[in-house]
This record gives sequence, structure tokens and C-alpha cells, in this order.
Amino acid sequence: MNGMRKYRSPIILFLVFEFIAIFLWQTSGNLFFLLNFTYIGLCVGLGGILFSAGWKYAREFTQFTVGSYMLVFLGLMCRENMQIEGLWYYLLLGVWGAGTLHYAIAKIFGPLLFGRGWCGFACWTAMVLDLLPYKHPKTPRRKLGFIRYIMFFLSLALVGLLFLLGEMDTHTMFLLFVAGNVVYYVIGITLALRFQDNRAFCKYICPITIFLKPASRYALLRIRCDENKCIGCGKCLKACPMEVEANNNSRHRKNATECILCQECVKSCPVNALKCSSSA
Ligand code: SF4
Ligand code: SF4
Ligand code: SF4
Repeated sequence: MNGMRKYRSPIILFLVFEFIAIFLWQTSGNLFFLLNFTYIGLCVGLGGILFSAGWKYAREFTQFTVGSYMLVFLGLMCRENMQIEGLWYYLLLGVWGAGTLHYAIAKIFGPLLFGRGWCGFACWTAMVLDLLPYKHPKTPRRKLGFIRYIMFFLSLALVGLLFLLGEMDTHTMFLLFVAGNVVYYVIGITLALRFQDNRAFCKYICPITIFLKPASRYALLRIRCDENKCIGCGKCLKACPMEVEANNNSRHRKNATECILCQECVKSCPVNALKCSSSA
């Protein structure tokens, strides 16, 4: 029975997604919601189970199964803009569309439950950036986080301008989705190579962090350290791609809102002092 306890969190996560799937399907009558959220829940849950079972590439499994589904199927084939411009588009139209739903669950309210799990397990931008060679930053963190605010207001201004000009329609939003992703990949890869840090784009540029960071500070699911076990070796600090002070339990620990729940710190700890959990 004790051996099964390690699978509790992924099973709970799957059940949360399944609840959302059934709720949205029943209230909207749209079968897509049932299939979409069941698929995502299965990928997330299975990835968590594989991680708990010790499979090295469990996180990458979820990243690619969810990330490529959203980028290729929902984005390119179904032409649904789920970037931040898609959110502004639906908000300006006053429509509760897939973009708003996606943001509400993955990036605005969901992080209160699962922090920045989106960034560690589902984002299609990071899915590619994480393949680059600098999994752990090789250079000190720069004070460039202000760029994310510029990006945030630029995206809002762009969609607002298109709206005022009467040029905002589904085709334009599709073109913006394609162009936006190309720009993100080019900037992300260039910064990663220049700063020798795969996640430089996440740290300095990504406008979505403006939603993700505040909620993630109060996330239920987070990295917790058993201070009675910790021997202060610092291996977790070296392993963390986001420079989070993983061995400090305070919600105000260094770079606390940067944690993407990737669990590299958990894997690196020689005394199993760290765990990703909803309770101490
Ligand atoms: S910070 Fe932005 S680009 Fe990075 S993983 Fe999160 S959502 Fe994706
Ligand atoms: S603290 Fe741990 S889980 Fe969070 S980003 Fe760093 S390595 Fe990943
Ligand atoms: S790796 Fe483990 S033992 Fe070492 S500092 Fe981090 S939590 Fe403590």
C-alpha cells in the first residue's frame, strides 16, 4: 500500500482534469471538451506515474504529448490561437472561447493548485528549448525580467489595435499564432545559446509569467524540503534550471515564483530530503 502512495499526486491530477472534462462536456454539450481534457489529464497523470516509477524521461513524455498536441493539433490544425494574443482576442470580443478557457485553467487559476506545472510539463515553447544543451544556467542571472512586462503590453496593444481597425478575425489570429511562435522560438533559442541557459526566454521574455508567477507563490503543490534530512550539500541548487532555493520551505525563498516543478532538484538530492507535494 505504501508503494502506491507515491502515485497519489498524479492520480489526483488526472481526476481533476477528468472532472473538468466531464463538467465542461455536460454544461456545454460539446464532446470536444471531454476528449480534450481527458487526453491532457491522461498525459499529465501518466507522466507523473512514470516519474514516480523512476523513468528518466517522464517529464519529457508529458511535455511532448501535451505540448505538440496543443501546438500542432489545436493551434495549427484547428487554428485556435492559445497564445496570449488569443486571450486578448476573446476578451475583446467578450466571448468565452478555447483561449480564455485554456488561460483560466493552465495559467491563471490552475497555478493556485499546481503552480507553474504548465511551464515544466506542457508548454510547447519550453518543450523545444529544453532540448538545447544548457539545462543548468552557466552564467549568472541577469536583471532583464522587466522585458516580460514590455512583451505583455505590446501583445495587448497589437490585438487592441487590430480590434480598433476592424482587422481582427480568426484568420488574422491564426497568422498571429504562427508568426508569434516563430518569433518566440527564434528569440528563445538565440537567448539560450547567448546566455548559456535553456530557460532564459522563460526568465526574461515570456509575458505569460505575469499571470503565472503571482498564483504560483501560493500553489498547493510545491517543492518541500525535509529540514531534518537535508545535509546542506547544495546539489539541488546546482541542478535547478530556474535558480530556485529549493532547500528553503519559505514561500518567499529565492526565485520562489520561478519553480516549474520539473523536479530536477528532487532527483539530485542524495538524501531524499525534497519532494513535490501538496502537504508538508
Ligand atoms: S515561462 Fe512561458 S515560455 Fe517558459 S515554459 Fe512558461 S509559458 Fe512556456
Ligand atoms: S526548485 Fe526543483 S522543481 Fe522547482 S524549478 Fe528548481 S529544480 Fe525544478
Ligand atoms: S540536495 Fe538535498 S541535502 Fe543537498 S541541500 Fe538540497 S535538499 Fe539539502
